[in-house]
Amino acid sequence: MIREDSQRLIAEFIRVCQKLHRAGLIAATDGNVSCRFSAELLYITPSGLPKGDLQAGDILTVDMEGLVVEGSRKPSSEIRMHLLVYRNRPDVFAIVHAHPPMLTALTLAGIPFQADCLPEVWLTIGSVPTAPYATPSTEEVPQSIAPFLESHEALLLERHGSLTFGRTLNEAYLRLEKLEHAAHTLFYAYLLKQKMPLPLSLEAMKKLEELGKMGM
Ligand SMILES: [Zn+2]
Repeated sequence: MIREDSQRLIAEFIRVCQKLHRAGLIAATDGNVSCRFSAELLYITPSGLPKGDLQAGDILTVDMEGLVVEGSRKPSSEIRMHLLVYRNRPDVFAIVHAHPPMLTALTLAGIPFQADCLPEVWLTIGSVPTAPYATPSTEEVPQSIAPFLESHEALLLERHGSLTFGRTLNEAYLRLEKLEHAAHTLFYAYLLKQKMPLPLSLEAMKKLEELGKMGM
């Protein structure tokens, strides 16, 4: 599916950037967002601007090599990370990179995100690995995420933030919102019990697998 309605896509793009800011998932000029516009072109956020204030004219059109086709600003410094995902995942149409406080805190504490504790997270997103630390805005970032791209819809970046994929911009955003919410729940469970909660039982996982096969 190639999205052709550029105005509608840009409006959705700006809405997602505003939601990221309002939900506290990014601060200042943090984060970056992109989506496929056609087989060869992407929309991506510019570098150095607060995402909550973006206007339609700020969004850049770039090709699959990262060259600016339309727009006067510099593309996001993490453009190489976005390009790597699109090259490896033809099913991904949108990417959201953010700095969600609770998910990022988990990586600082060295605690893996336990998606298998919460049935709806497991069913809709699945496992969420943490890519090892990489210097932001450098070639190290795509290298660090490369081993995790196949078969994951979300990753955490150690000491940095999150990366979520979607078939639409809103899906990539909602996956992030759901994960940050789940991270709060896991944290509260940890506070109450003084240890991380147990994963779902094998029997419960099997039932979820059946639901997943039925497309639920
Ligand atoms: Zn970042």
